Amino acid sequence: MARARRPRTVKLQPTFEWEPYESPGGGTLRVGHTSCCGLYELASLGGQFFVLRPSEENGYEETGRGVYRKAVAAYVILVNQHRRDHLRRGETPEYDSLVDLCQEAHRR
Ligand SMILES: [Zn+2]
Repeated sequence: MARARRPRTVKLQPTFEWEPYESPGGGTLRVGHTSCCGLYELASLGGQFFVLRPSEENGYEETGRGVYRKAVAAYVILVNQHRRDHLRRGETPEYDSLVDLCQEAHRR
């Protein structure tokens, strides 16, 4: 019996699960960085980091919650996806010091 051929590996865009952001009612939410178009914010609260985006219902949604490195990784991927949308439309995305510095570091 012939074995099924393995499908070619396709590099998929990582997808993120977004959950409604609910303020715990204590502590101070800090926004460390805001992306191009103000679409994403790298935020922290109580020693945890996450990415916020406005939700359709006037609130916020979050993803990538965890240590700083994890949240930054999510932020960088999301910002790069957003930038590609700009480039596809022939637009120039805004400079993002965090993303641009990360990419600089990877090139070294
Ligand atoms: Zn933008």
